[in-house]
Amino acid sequence: MEQLKQRIIQEGVVVNNQVLKLDGLINHQVDPELTMEMGREFAERYRERGVTRIVTVESSGIAVAFAAAYELKVPLVFARRKKTLLADPDAYCERVPSFTKGIVTDIMISREFIKEDDRILFIDDIIANGDAARAVIKIIQRAGAELVGFGVIVEKCFQSGADSIRELGVEVESLVKISSLENGTVQFAD
Ligand code: 5GP
Repeated sequence: MEQLKQRIIQEGVVVNNQVLKLDGLINHQVDPELTMEMGREFAERYRERGVTRIVTVESSGIAVAFAAAYELKVPLVFARRKKTLLADPDAYCERVPSFTKGIVTDIMISREFIKEDDRILFIDDIIANGDAARAVIKIIQRAGAELVGFGVIVEKCFQSGADSIRELGVEVESLVKISSLENGTVQFAD
């Protein structure tokens, strides 16, 4: 997605060889026009696939997943990161090591919002090692729902996450692929 590449070049901050800060676009501030455009792009790629729900993880996946859900006219479910006192004790839970925070968190989705007859499109912001994605995929599988595909805004190809998800037989669609962050520069794979 050319527009997104340009914005990453202009506004992305290379923190080190592994991490790209996208606070101005995705992870802290949200650009509504760009977000709606990204949502439309995911929706176009999956429009004919009978998606019944979109699933993401709070918090950075929510905006773009909402935009795609709006386009496809399906509900958006976001996995919650922490059990609250109000959480459903019967919910599906998985443990995720956080790439950026260096801690382990639990994510959960209530059984009410993911059903056996669902066809799920999973959308997330950035994939690195794939721990967050694997946890969500496990929940979708445990619910007996069908995972139609995984749409991710930024795939960092030099880390193993996206390929490890493809190896599970899941279709992965990324809006941009980054092949390197070396020397403080963003290199795109395509
Ligand atoms: P993973 O579980 O694939 O290792 O990491 C995925 C999560 O960590 C993403 O949801 C994203 O929020 C965060 N993350 C991973 N790599 C980066 C990065 O380079 N920049 C930012 N801003 N977040 C990242």
